[in-house]
Amino acid sequence: MLVTSKQMILSAQKNGYAVGCFNTSDLELTKAIIAAAVAQQAPVMVATSEKAIQFGGIAALAALIKEEAKNASVPVALHLDHGKSIHIVKECLDAGYTSVMFDGSELFLDKNTQMTAEAAKLAHERNVPCEGELGHLGKVGVSSNQLTNPDDVLEFVQKTEVDFLALSIGSSHGVGSDEKLEIELLKKINSLTKIPLVLHGGSGVPDGDIQKAISSGICKINIDTDIRHEFTKDLREILKEHPDEQDPREILAEVMQKVQTLVEKKIKLFGSNNKT
Ligand SMILES: [Zn+2]
Repeated sequence: MLVTSKQMILSAQKNGYAVGCFNTSDLELTKAIIAAAVAQQAPVMVATSEKAIQFGGIAALAALIKEEAKNASVPVALHLDHGKSIHIVKECLDAGYTSVMFDGSELFLDKNTQMTAEAAKLAHERNVPCEGELGHLGKVGVSSNQLTNPDDVLEFVQKTEVDFLALSIGSSHGVGSDEKLEIELLKKINSLTKIPLVLHGGSGVPDGDIQKAISSGICKINIDTDIRHEFTKDLREILKEHPDEQDPREILAEVMQKVQTLVEKKIKLFGSNNKT
């Protein structure tokens, strides 16, 4: 069923696990993610970035995910990942997204606060929760991290009225070679606020650190790169194994199965299996 992300994340916070938020841009990934959630009886968030929206077109992509969500036996939220403008937040709300993120982490703190508050207000008018980001996650090989300053947290949360807060605590977007999490920083922030905390850049973080992060307050974990890598790696292998296969459906069905297996593994790592 299609639901907002509010209740699933509050339940995760209360019961000490994390909801998986997995990125899609097409039919195959969407079906694989939702099939994994159904197999594991897990609440799940299906996310689209602005790039995915550009790729698929917002109307088509939203309709596809909403339809798959409605038919699923587990709670599914349709989430905007890293919305960087008020315009895209509005577009997603109009298209029926049930969860949004405004990412002002590249802006100065005042501007980030002001724009995130605006996005949260728009979302709340439709009873949709909004995630904000404080501190900035770098991109592996491109830019560096700016860790969340605990001193900024309370004021940001109060002024923006966001429902969830994404932190920068050592992980990066993409898969780096040494993505150690700053667990002490996370614990400190978690002691300051009751807001559910979000980990981005979960791909490439060692499993042990993921578990420590969950027990220290992380209730939502984003996985994007791992899924894209799994998809392209499997696609290459399967095409090589079956060089004469002419039916894309035969090839894609195998790829989807492997992506599903990866998502199920993540769901179990996050502890959100059997939580519907
Ligand atoms: Zn992210």
